[in-house]
Amino acid sequence: MAANITATASKESATTLQMLERIGSHSHVKGLGLDETLNARPTSQGMVGQQAARKAAGVIVKMVQEGKIAGRAILIAGPPSTGKTAIAMGMSQALGPDVPFTMLSSSEVFSLEMSKTEALTQAFRKSIGVRIKEEKEVIEGEVVEVQIDRSLTGATKTGKLTVKTTDMETIYDLGNKMIDSLSKEKISAGDVISIDKASGRITKLGRSFTRARDYDAMGSDTRFVACPEGELQQRKEVTHTVSLHEIDVINSRTQGFLALFAGDTGEIKPELRDQINSKVGEWREEGKAEIVPGVLFIDEIHMLDIECFSFINRALESEMAPLVIMASNRGITRIRGTRYRSPHGLPIDLLDRLLIVRTQPYEMSDIKAILELRAQEEEVSIEAEALDVLTRIGGETSLRYALQLITTSSFAARRRKVDAIGVQDIKRCYGLFVDEKRSTQYLAEHGAQYLA
Ligand code: ATP
Repeated sequence: MAANITATASKESATTLQMLERIGSHSHVKGLGLDETLNARPTSQGMVGQQAARKAAGVIVKMVQEGKIAGRAILIAGPPSTGKTAIAMGMSQALGPDVPFTMLSSSEVFSLEMSKTEALTQAFRKSIGVRIKEEKEVIEGEVVEVQIDRSLTGATKTGKLTVKTTDMETIYDLGNKMIDSLSKEKISAGDVISIDKASGRITKLGRSFTRARDYDAMGSDTRFVACPEGELQQRKEVTHTVSLHEIDVINSRTQGFLALFAGDTGEIKPELRDQINSKVGEWREEGKAEIVPGVLFIDEIHMLDIECFSFINRALESEMAPLVIMASNRGITRIRGTRYRSPHGLPIDLLDRLLIVRTQPYEMSDIKAILELRAQEEEVSIEAEALDVLTRIGGETSLRYALQLITTSSFAARRRKVDAIGVQDIKRCYGLFVDEKRSTQYLAEHGAQYLA
C-alpha cells in the first residue's frame, strides 16, 4: 500500500471553509504592516498599534522563512481583544499561501469524535507542508487567446465573461501596452494573469488560488486566463504543496479523499501515518519532495490539560514539527488536570521553551483606528460623532463588543433607511445587547433568579 501513496489534495478542503468562518472578523488584516527593517508602521496592512508585538512577530516570520524555527513555540500573551489572533493572522499573510497555517481553538481538542491526542496530531500534521515536485507536460507559446474569467474573483461574482480571439488584431483592441507585455512575459496555458487596464501592465499571478485571503490580497477585480496558440509541448517541473494531514486522509481506506471536503476525517491509524512518514522520507531522499514547516496557532491555550501539554512538548521534539504559536489572555491560573497554578495555565517546563510576545491594552486612538478599519471592511459608513461614541464604548467595555456594535448598528441604520450609522443607532444597540460588564453586574444583582 505504501507504494501507492498519493498526494494530490487541494487546499480547497473543508478546513479552508472552517477557517474562512473563523477569520471573518480579521478579514481586514492583510499582513503585519512592517517596513523593510521589520519595524511596525503605526497603521499598515490593516494592523494598528501593538508595534512591539508586531515587530517580534515579523522577526519570527523571517526565521520561519529562513527555515530556522521549526519545532519552536511562541506564546502571545495579553489581555482580551488586544490583537493576539489578529497578529497570528498577519503572520500567516506574511508567510504566504505556500506555508501551511492552521488555527485551532483549544476547546476543539475536546471533541467527542476523537481523542485529544488524535485531534492535536491532526492539527500538527495539517501544519506541515510537503512540497512535491513533479514533471509535467506544459504548453508554452505566444499568447493570442485571452479569457477574462470573473468567476475567479470570489464567491460573490460568479458570472463568466469570455473574450476569445485568435488573431492579433483583437488582442490589439485590449491595448497596445498589453500586447507589449504579453509578448515579454512568459505565460503558459492556464496561467492566471492580471492586467491593469490603465497601464496595460501584466502581472503573472500563478496557477491557482485556493484560499480566500489570496483573492483579498490581490485586490484587482478581473483575472485573465491566458491560452497559447502556437502550442509548444515542453516538460517542465512543477511543484505543489499539500499537508501531511491531507496525504494521510487521501490514503486512509476508511476516510478517503471526499472526507477532506466534508471536514469529517475521523481518527487515522498510526500505522498509516508511519507508512506516510517513511514514504515522504523516501521522496525527500530522491529529491522529489521537501518539507515546508508551517505554523500551528492554538488559541485559549489555558483550556488544554496536562496530557495535551505533554503531547505538545513531545511533538515539538519531532523532526517534522511546525512552529507552534499559542495565545493566552489569562494571568496566573490552574493548569487543567493538576492542582497547580502557573502563568497562563502552562506547565513550567513548556513555558520555559517558549518565546513570549506581549500585547498591550489599547489607547483610545488605536481603538478608533481599528473601528474605522472594520467599518470600511464591512462597507458601512459611520458618522463622526457616532464613531466617537463607539470609541468610548470600546474603551469602557471591550474592543470586541464595540466591533460587534458596528454590525448591529448598521442594521439599525438600514432600518431607518439612512446610509450612515448615527449616534441613535449605537444607543439603540447598546441598549439591546449588553456587554460583559453589564451582564456580570446584572447577574450579581439578579443571580438568585437563575438556575445554579
Ligand atoms: P482574546 O484574548 O479575547 O482571544 P485576541 O487578543 O485574540 O482576543 P483579536 O481577536 O485578535 O484579540 O482582536 C479582536 C478584534 O479586534 C478582531 O476583529 C481583530 O481583528 C481586531 N484587532 C485587534 N487588534 C488589532 C490591531 N492591532 N489592528 C487591527 N485589528 C485589530
